Amino acid sequence: MTEPARWTAEDTEDVVCCLCRVPGTLVHDLVPFGVVRCPQCALVFISPRLRPEALQRLYDDAGYFEGGVYDAGVRAESRSPAMLLQRTWTAGRLALIDRERDLPAGGRLLEVGAGYGLFLAAAREAGWAASGVELSRTGAKHAQDTLGLDVFCGQLEDAPLEPGFDVVCAWDTAEHVPDPVSFWRTVRSLVADDGVVVFSTPYVDSLPARLLGTRWWTLKPAEHIWHFTPRTHALLLARAGLALTRVVRNPLAPANAGRLDSLVGVARPIPGAS
Ligand SMILES: [Zn+2]
Repeated sequence: MTEPARWTAEDTEDVVCCLCRVPGTLVHDLVPFGVVRCPQCALVFISPRLRPEALQRLYDDAGYFEGGVYDAGVRAESRSPAMLLQRTWTAGRLALIDRERDLPAGGRLLEVGAGYGLFLAAAREAGWAASGVELSRTGAKHAQDTLGLDVFCGQLEDAPLEPGFDVVCAWDTAEHVPDPVSFWRTVRSLVADDGVVVFSTPYVDSLPARLLGTRWWTLKPAEHIWHFTPRTHALLLARAGLALTRVVRNPLAPANAGRLDSLVGVARPIPGAS
């Protein structure tokens, strides 16, 4: 994974809160990065953070996913604990989508941040017309060439997608994007008015985050550049025309299995908003 010593101040830039446009107040100094909190809305974010060019280098690095779920996932039929969890999340999340829609699987599903395409492949298997977007060339290539999935490699804003998706998924993605307000606005423009948005992210008011401080294993300041709470998620989503309608924090729920510091959220378009 990321070597903290690999980045210098020259790779970084200062940013402001994406909601309030004001600089944050320092919480943890992790040179060359800083963990800061917006004095107005309490959104936690990284500033200084990696510049866009440095971020792209990070995601293009074939080693980016190594050691995690995806490393196991690219080996067929892996029975590693990480892969078992991955399968539990996938099944739990597909079931959550069906429950939220109160409909059987089927229709158009978009996954933003598709990684190696494991969830998308399962969604296709369940009956969805599945499309994806992935920034990492390594991940996108695997999804396209090995799994035969329809995955665009690049930023969501640049993807040639037809709007009107029944479901848009963003698993562990919103904490990575340059500007979450702009990200959720793009998602809002792609989801149908009666569609559903489902996502997962770490949350900074989770017990591990509060107890462990700078030793929180999910802090990773190079790639996790926004740290949300259910409250700041609701603010961000509302700014983008989406209402946060459900938050699953229980680590026993299949959609969130074993995750003590992450949540699964469900959001729906606010009528009349765009
Ligand atoms: Zn703010």
